[in-house]
Amino acid sequence: MDFEPQEVSERAAAADLAEGSRVAEHLKCQQCKGIAVNCYQTWHGCRLCTACATEWKRQRDVANHCPCGEDDQPGDCLSLRLTPYLPDTATRREVNNLTVSCPNKSRGCEHTCARKHVDNHLKTECKFELTECDLCEQEVPLYRLTSHHKNLRSKAAVASLEPCVRTVTALVR
Ligand SMILES: [Zn+2]
Ligand SMILES: [Zn+2]
Ligand SMILES: [Zn+2]
Ligand SMILES: [Zn+2]
Repeated sequence: MDFEPQEVSERAAAADLAEGSRVAEHLKCQQCKGIAVNCYQTWHGCRLCTACATEWKRQRDVANHCPCGEDDQPGDCLSLRLTPYLPDTATRREVNNLTVSCPNKSRGCEHTCARKHVDNHLKTECKFELTECDLCEQEVPLYRLTSHHKNLRSKAAVASLEPCVRTVTALVR
């Protein structure tokens, strides 16, 4: 899927605000009052988060009005059908500059950064990111990748893991 302007991944979009971060009213979704991450703006100028925009689009055949219910002129059917809303780049930029906690906070990561940097943090430096172990195919946090097989350093255990012999040998040394 092509990324639209200033769009962040689902995980970055769901990241919780860091303690002490405040959100200006104009950065909230008109509909659900959540933070308008990956925001869209209706033809009426109201802001919607992705979930609310998608839901509204689904109903647009019956809903010619902006979800705020305050537009005095209903949108024209044809233009609504074509472009009921557009990506709101300016709002997205502001929302992406808010400081959030790492999505791996519950696993122990205390990192906070601007939402726009979350994807990069997860990809390049978060030690709490789950990674599939080549050896046992379990998902383990990156920082445990080399330590979670300590108990397998016996010859018998190594022999039972034939398919991964190379990795096992490396670990046993
Ligand atoms: Zn919403
Ligand atoms: Zn509106
Ligand atoms: Zn992290
Ligand atoms: Zn493993």
